[in-house]
Amino acid sequence: MENEAKKRRPFLQRAALFLLSSVLSLVLLGLIALWVLLRPDSVLPDHWNPTRPLSITAPVTPVTRWQLRAASQDEAVCRGVLAQAGVGFSQMEPLVSGEHCGISQRGSLSSLVGAQVTPIETRCATALRLAMWEHHDIQPAARQHLGSNVSQLLHIGSYNCRKMRTARGNEDAWSSHATAAAFDITGALLADGRRLTLLKDWKGATDESAFLRQIWRGSCKWFRLVLGPDYNRLHADHFHLQTSGWGFCR
Ligand SMILES: [Zn+2]
Repeated sequence: MENEAKKRRPFLQRAALFLLSSVLSLVLLGLIALWVLLRPDSVLPDHWNPTRPLSITAPVTPVTRWQLRAASQDEAVCRGVLAQAGVGFSQMEPLVSGEHCGISQRGSLSSLVGAQVTPIETRCATALRLAMWEHHDIQPAARQHLGSNVSQLLHIGSYNCRKMRTARGNEDAWSSHATAAAFDITGALLADGRRLTLLKDWKGATDESAFLRQIWRGSCKWFRLVLGPDYNRLHADHFHLQTSGWGFCR
């Protein structure tokens, strides 16, 4: 018994030493990483640096989703990010309307990075996701499929104090529109004058349809719940884009 205990001790000592050196190495690596990230003259580009604010027009990296979440949760950061990209979003007092309705981070959205929108009240976080979608998906897809930029995004609003509507009728749950955490897009005006609507252009083997289907898929990267014409007849004429949800896209 004594012999066995003696044999075991060096093993335990080696294991403890190994553990200690692993922990110290990890701490050291962590400190080096922090030093690299937090230096004002960091060699790491901002769009790869999770401690820097989002830039809408910067290339999309795996870090972008962290920066987007951080900006969505902090109103001051969100407004700063929109202003830096030239998005028209003028500040308004928060709206409180009963227990279920209201708009925090409230503002009037009048333009995205390249496209105009008829002015509409919404939340900063909703405007931010629209701007990411417009810059990274809508404009590139329009140039690719239609050879023109989008000059205006057509919509039917964001805030609406109401219950959810489904194919079965009205539900008891409140709609994400009741807090302006959703936005309904109906189509787009192109710089060359063409007017696309989901109702008229979603179906068919046309360039317009290919464009609309590509931006629908693209919207799923930026919104947590997206419902379009293929979901049900209630969405035949618009994309319902929602900042909250569980990753459903149809
Ligand atoms: Zn909607």
